[in-house]
Amino acid sequence: MIKKNVICSFCGCLCDDLSITIEDGKITGVDNGCALANAKFLGKERLLKPVIREGDSIKETEYNTAIEKAADILKDAERPLFFGWSGTQGEAQAKGVHLCMLLGGVIDNTSSLCHGPSILAIQEVGHPGCTLGQVKNRADLIIYWGCNPLEGHPRHMSRYTTYADGFFLKNAFRERKLIVVDVRKTMSSDVADEFIQIEPGGDYAVLSALRAIVRGEEKIIPESVSGVSKSQLKRVADMCKEARFGALFFGLGLTMSKNKYKNIRNAVELTDELSRHTKFTISAMRGHWNVYGANEVFTWMTGYPYAIDFARGIPFYNPGETTAAEILYRKECDALMVVSSDPAAHMPKKCVEHMADIPVIQIDPHKNCTSFFTDVQIPVAITGIEASGTAYRMDGVPLRTKKIIDADFLTDTEVISRIYERILEAKADV
Ligand code: SF4
Repeated sequence: MIKKNVICSFCGCLCDDLSITIEDGKITGVDNGCALANAKFLGKERLLKPVIREGDSIKETEYNTAIEKAADILKDAERPLFFGWSGTQGEAQAKGVHLCMLLGGVIDNTSSLCHGPSILAIQEVGHPGCTLGQVKNRADLIIYWGCNPLEGHPRHMSRYTTYADGFFLKNAFRERKLIVVDVRKTMSSDVADEFIQIEPGGDYAVLSALRAIVRGEEKIIPESVSGVSKSQLKRVADMCKEARFGALFFGLGLTMSKNKYKNIRNAVELTDELSRHTKFTISAMRGHWNVYGANEVFTWMTGYPYAIDFARGIPFYNPGETTAAEILYRKECDALMVVSSDPAAHMPKKCVEHMADIPVIQIDPHKNCTSFFTDVQIPVAITGIEASGTAYRMDGVPLRTKKIIDADFLTDTEVISRIYERILEAKADV
């Protein structure tokens, strides 16, 4: 059997044109997917049963026992932290917020480690964005700043930009100009019409210089700005002004380099500046397939996109204080629930050391570095393969991922709901 138009739940592109071959209830082939999609759909490694820690050993158990233990850990905690959420369905994210509210804990998603600074900048100066469909059909100039789509989002160029013909661009490869800005050469810079190589940490200065040139103030620009010549900056500013529709995409090379959210603020303001001459938009290259969804769901439920503390009985948001890494670093939380994420692989050593000192619950189909610290790990159905669920594409378009094969695993939403119900029952008994 071949299932067509399947959505790939791996990266923020959420490509919706995959064809999946299924034989005897197993996936045996993937068409249209990139290497990352193939690894996801054809991957065999996974946790088959819930496990709990007993002393120094890890033992397999049943769902009921694992859920009971997870509920016990959470209800005994004074300041539980809930982290992850970018690799799960919107329905589970909503349940997670309810659970955190019930316990007066802190809930944060992985954007605090990736595009959190982008959100802070957007809260200050807005977001002149657009859908990927607009880019595909209209944009004749693309800028990738601090990202390497050919390796990080392998089909972004072929579905939406350089290699994707659109309604107003019949021969996109020749008609679209591509500018790549990065601190080093990458696969993406190799195919660019113009590659701007800046010194590490020089993004803010280069963005400011471009803004000045676009404003007609090029006389104040020195001959070189953060390793980029004035002549190249003028050439790039002209390319941008001459475009009919420009689209700037930025990645962690911009959000996580020196000046962090100020870089994004400056990039949004450059976009505004260019929109006085032509149409220009800016969008974040969101990594995990539903990290945008985590921000959306948290926002419509609490008013804030990440790092929300319910200790006061109301949502309180202060990134840098209520973000997961800072709470772990200060050894503030006394229990951690990780959903579809791997903080042990990405957070500073001091945060990981605290994970080793507190009970950790993990809800994830796979083992990862965080699994070494878990007291309970509950495997779940993989959304987009074994379970349906809502996801938001990197441009904020919600899509419904579909279940394509049957599996005996509970979904993330079911597991979190059952933990929630157990805690509610226990509170009612008190
Ligand atoms: S680009 Fe991303 S969403 Fe598209 S097939 Fe590859 S991994 Fe999946």
